[in-house]
Amino acid sequence: MTVTASSPLTLLALPAFSDNYLWLLHDGRHAWVVDPGDAAPVRACLDEQGLTLQGILLTHHHADHTGGVQELVQSTGAVVYGPAYETLPEPVHRLSGGETVEVLGHTFEVLDVPGHTAGHIAYFGASVAPAPLLFCGDTLFSGGCGRLFEGTPAQMLDSLDRLSALPDTTRVCCTHEYTLSNLRFARAVEPDNAELAAYAQHCEALRAAGQPTLPSQLDLERQINPFLRSRTASVRAGLKTQVPDLTDDDVAVFAALREWKNRF
Ligand SMILES: [Zn+2]
Ligand SMILES: [Zn+2]
Repeated sequence: MTVTASSPLTLLALPAFSDNYLWLLHDGRHAWVVDPGDAAPVRACLDEQGLTLQGILLTHHHADHTGGVQELVQSTGAVVYGPAYETLPEPVHRLSGGETVEVLGHTFEVLDVPGHTAGHIAYFGASVAPAPLLFCGDTLFSGGCGRLFEGTPAQMLDSLDRLSALPDTTRVCCTHEYTLSNLRFARAVEPDNAELAAYAQHCEALRAAGQPTLPSQLDLERQINPFLRSRTASVRAGLKTQVPDLTDDDVAVFAALREWKNRF
């Protein structure tokens, strides 16, 4: 069989519910979707563009990420990948991190990123043009990170450290449009961060025009996201205005930052 040079993949953010995006990747014929909490927007996109759904990637078990799986599998026969140790619609290929999944001719690496849930995984495609792709579910958001429902602050800090070590140009495909509220918090933490102020203005303009703020880019997140910056002097100084007796322990700092955001 002759394999032709792979054409660039198209990445779409399909809005669902009040603030979810269902990320859909296609090559003009075949498609994969990430965390389809609702089947309807995916079906509509497949029909409109004449695409066949080949596969589904799941990051964690929450219903707004998995609710459409059964209907999509029944109607398309798509193969499903998901975290090893979470309750998911069956059948599912179970992944715990370190494996790879072939998606439309590209290898995606599976990353174990517990914190939001105990078994949360992410998918990283290094070879996708024009820039690497990260599907990180509810672990990393633009300007923020997921709530710690099942994991510990130490686990989440470690998960975010590993995501933060990915290449600068990585496109960060988060599941929720939480950016503006995350940036309000980020600005309370780092009022003097000029990149953050400029990015907040940029995102406000995007939302006013009805556009998604996502995907974000990893090098930008390292400049503006307090949860990737919890070791910087400026984030620690901001946090000390709330928690005067804060110690220098990395995990304690991260936990205090997450706590502050919870009640912000
Ligand atoms: Zn979730
Ligand atoms: Zn979610």
